[in-house]
Amino acid sequence: MLSVSQTETIIFNLVQPLKAQRDVEVVSLLTALDRILAAPVTSALDFPHWDNSAMDGYAVRYEDVKHCNEQPVVLEIVEEIPAGIEPQKSIQPGQAARILTGAMMPVGADTVVIQEQTQREGNRVSILAAPKPQEFVRHRASFYQAGSVLLSPGIMLNAPEIAILAAAQCTQMTVYRRPRVAILSTGDELATPDQPLQPGQIVDSNQYALAALVAQTGAEPFQVGIVPDQPEALKNAIAKALQTSDLVLSSGGVSVGDYDYVDRILASLGAEIHVRAVAVKPGKPLTVATFTPTDAHYKPVLYFGLPGNPVSALVSFWRFVQPAIKKLSGLSRSWGPTFVPARSRGELRSDGKRETYLWGQLYLVNGGYEFQLAAGSHSSGNLINLAQTNGLAVLPVGQTSVSSGEPIQVMQVGLPIDETSRKSQVASRN
Ligand code: AMP
Ligand code: MG
Repeated sequence: MLSVSQTETIIFNLVQPLKAQRDVEVVSLLTALDRILAAPVTSALDFPHWDNSAMDGYAVRYEDVKHCNEQPVVLEIVEEIPAGIEPQKSIQPGQAARILTGAMMPVGADTVVIQEQTQREGNRVSILAAPKPQEFVRHRASFYQAGSVLLSPGIMLNAPEIAILAAAQCTQMTVYRRPRVAILSTGDELATPDQPLQPGQIVDSNQYALAALVAQTGAEPFQVGIVPDQPEALKNAIAKALQTSDLVLSSGGVSVGDYDYVDRILASLGAEIHVRAVAVKPGKPLTVATFTPTDAHYKPVLYFGLPGNPVSALVSFWRFVQPAIKKLSGLSRSWGPTFVPARSRGELRSDGKRETYLWGQLYLVNGGYEFQLAAGSHSSGNLINLAQTNGLAVLPVGQTSVSSGEPIQVMQVGLPIDETSRKSQVASRN
């Protein structure tokens, strides 16, 4: 059986990211949020576009004011320059211009004296303290030089990048299309949430959980629905899903039960199977397969057969599928899950045979993480106490227990709950 880290390596090597030449679309500033840039962005503008003032004050010649610590210097105000107005005069020795934040520096001036260090009388201003040379001037191109790379492909567009694109007057940008992920559930016992349940039936909750996780990862879920445990039906459903997706996710039917057909069907459809089981708990049965392009589907398709148990399906998604989707989506880095060091708030147990993921709540307390195991059964069939899970404590193979207060690694799957006391927040701010 493969270890978790071996499986992760195999998966990363199998993922072929979307292609920047083919798998792209154009979005606008208002629809760019969370999308992955597919082409470099450059600008013909320098940033700042011209020398400008960082403060409200007076634009002066440094030569005129460098000695005014000993004695104030009086300058003639020849112009007022608010933001958005082009200066009309050049500053001669003995002159200054009233200038406001963001306004263009006038020719001749090289330094700004903040208004707090001046005293104005009519069209004259006394400079009371010497500035540093070039103080409070934001120089042209000091932030960015026209023509160099402004934003690189493979980054996710969030508020800062969207602000940069807007400032560069880049109103349309090329991003990777969202990866398409087909989701199918296998099992004769499954019903939809709106169907009356017959004896022996349960709701196909995985379909909805996985669709939510796929969407949360920036991909587009395509819900195939429930497929009965019949080889022919399953084969048709998978073959169809391959045509429209970059990745196919199924849940159920991958263990060794009499009705677990997925692996056989994948093989019969020409897939290469790379992973069949992983030494992880929950989630031991995991199938990872690839389809090379054929006439029916022009691009490579990755297949994940997740176990049917609801907790196993979610944990397998977080640990193995989400990183694969992130790499597939064109993101250039940070594909893997985030692990943080935490202290356990209680005792944790494992049989030590497989890498064990225990679900619960991750707290942030005065700068450190704490993990609270979810109360109730840790059966992989129990999805009820999975509510509010934002972290999974990881017990490596060989470790059978963790005592209360001991350090552990926690895989983060949501934002930690901040329980930092108000007192310490105030203290850390001061
Ligand atoms: P399997 O992997 O098919 O052996 O299923 C393992 C367990 O997960 C069984 O108890 C199934 O009833 C349950 N299960 C399978 N598929 C789903 C699903 N889509 N939603 C919720 N539970 C499921
Ligand atoms: Mg089944």
